Amino acid sequence: MTRRATKIVATLGPASSDPVLLEKMIRAGVNVVRLNFSHGKAQDHINLAAVVREVAQRAGREVAIMADLQGPKIRVGKFAEGKVMLEPGEKFILDASRTEPGDIRGVGLDYKELPRDVKAGDVLLLNDGLIVLTVDAVRGEEVHTTVKLGGELSNNKGINKQGGGLTAPALTAKDMEDIKTAMSFQADYVAVSFPKNATDMEMARQLCNVAAAPYKHKPGLIAKIERAEAIPKLEEILKVSDGIMVARGDLAVEVGNAAVPALQKRMIKMARAADKVVITATQMMESMILNPVPTRAEVSDVANAVLDGTDAVMLSAETAAGRFPLETVEEMAKICEEAEKAEYKELGADFSGKTFARIDQSIAMGALFTAHHLGAKAIVALTDSGSTALWMSRHDIHVPIYALTPRLDTQRKMAIYRNVRPILMDSSADRDTALEQAESHLLRLDIVHSGDVYAITCGEPMGAPGGTNMLKICRVA
Ligand code: PGA
Ligand code: MN
Repeated sequence: MTRRATKIVATLGPASSDPVLLEKMIRAGVNVVRLNFSHGKAQDHINLAAVVREVAQRAGREVAIMADLQGPKIRVGKFAEGKVMLEPGEKFILDASRTEPGDIRGVGLDYKELPRDVKAGDVLLLNDGLIVLTVDAVRGEEVHTTVKLGGELSNNKGINKQGGGLTAPALTAKDMEDIKTAMSFQADYVAVSFPKNATDMEMARQLCNVAAAPYKHKPGLIAKIERAEAIPKLEEILKVSDGIMVARGDLAVEVGNAAVPALQKRMIKMARAADKVVITATQMMESMILNPVPTRAEVSDVANAVLDGTDAVMLSAETAAGRFPLETVEEMAKICEEAEKAEYKELGADFSGKTFARIDQSIAMGALFTAHHLGAKAIVALTDSGSTALWMSRHDIHVPIYALTPRLDTQRKMAIYRNVRPILMDSSADRDTALEQAESHLLRLDIVHSGDVYAITCGEPMGAPGGTNMLKICRVA
């Protein structure tokens, strides 16, 4: 069996909600499903989450659910005809006070603050930058613009300001409701859209923790990096988040397309150095929305994200609304596997340069070092919170990591960690029984065979979070 280290996040939507298809997609390699709260009603997400849990169990795969909040996406209102065709040189008015449907002369806004956030000379990008407007003047609630780059503008398309600077708070009233919905089905991750700084993430954390408390749950928090303002704040955002998403769609509009590839590399590096996870997202297999095969450029894009060290690559419309959701997952899995083979894996400078003071972390690093040099078949982490597996997975190593945990929530959370296969085990009080159990799991799953060496970490006493203090090197009898 080939073993893929890079994980796949698939956005669900009308094209992928059928349980039979969803099960095929999970078997084909989906590790995390993304429920996009920009679309659909609360009950739709609740129903879909139940289907995901059921289907994943049937397929025998550990799948995490990521609830992606809409955030203060700034959108135009609706049009009388559903859309208009804007021609360069025409005047167009974005009107925060407009209640009637839009037409060729202008349209309403769901973000009422826009007139306060822009001034003459600003450049507004609509529909992911496909339409460009320059601001001529702001008159009360009306933003008067001239069309620079024309095209079709349809209902509820997004608006970005070039260079960033929209003041909208990262969490809207709708997001707060959606957090409650997501916690009712114990979403494993919550993705926060458009955070500007650490405070936005801390606020989201607080809301999640309150909403999750009745379920004794703690979701992981992913900061979507998609605002120009977030870039200089990456360090502080990483500190208070469990991971980041390189959200290339909105980010490209704000900072310019050409700046994104270098930012992607930097963000992946920074996330790994900070012991946080990172997802590379948006348009990775875009042409597969319509075609059964990807373009050469898309293949390269996915492979390069793998080589950059991303934990996961994400599919958006490809799986949510595309014609080939299953084929897209299959193709993406293949590209990841090939890219991983080509990778030269040495414990690099990121490993030797790492400093740590914690006992559990030093055991994790010791296991990596030892397994690497012994040519071990596997590294096994017996883990409660998943942190040993996370630390291990921040470094490129050819040895696969198996994380055994008695906790279902930890198992699911680890589904996104690169090079980690999370396995559920019985909770067991004493160490020796747990170690025996671990080996029988490895044998049963065909991971190790007679004569193989593996490294295993655990804590004594068992079951104390952060209690890992033992490294054992074993040879299978
Ligand atoms: P979205 O976020 O798909 O929710 O807009 C991802 C991105 O902007 O790239
Ligand atoms: Mn976005």
